[in-house]
Amino acid sequence: MERTLSIIKPDAVERDLIQKIKDEFLNNSFKIVNERKIHITKQEAEKFYKVHETKPFYSDLCDYLSSGPIVVMILEKENAILDNRKLMGATNPTEAEEGTIRKKYGISIDKNSVHGSDSLDNAKIEINFFFKD
Ligand code: ADP
Ligand code: MG
Repeated sequence: MERTLSIIKPDAVERDLIQKIKDEFLNNSFKIVNERKIHITKQEAEKFYKVHETKPFYSDLCDYLSSGPIVVMILEKENAILDNRKLMGATNPTEAEEGTIRKKYGISIDKNSVHGSDSLDNAKIEINFFFKD
């Protein structure tokens, strides 16, 4: 079994999409192992998105992720990382495949409703970032 970190981003929480998005995971054989609804600071967002610190959109991205409540979840299934990326769809909702979460719910490339880890190493780092016990 593999684990990945999923985030329901502020745009989706704001539009009351938490349950709809959780149902997408549950209906696609993911188990939600742990979840927390939190509101992070810009400093925490900067730490979380450190890999993007050289990108032109870094500051806006961190402002955005800290702009309101988010739901962080550990998802588990076989091939969880890749399967979650498939279920999420492309980063830009206009390019996301029909039926994907970002196609259904994303508003724009920045307000794209969900985050998902992109590799085994990053999944471990990201899970540990929000769920250290
Ligand atoms: P993903 O979330 O699909 O893994 P990236 O890791 O490349 O995408 O980027 C992280 C987040 O940064 C994206 O989900 C999106 O919200 C934002 N982002 C990515 N590219 C852009 C861009 N060109 N302009 C604005 N925001 C962007
Ligand atoms: Mg990414």
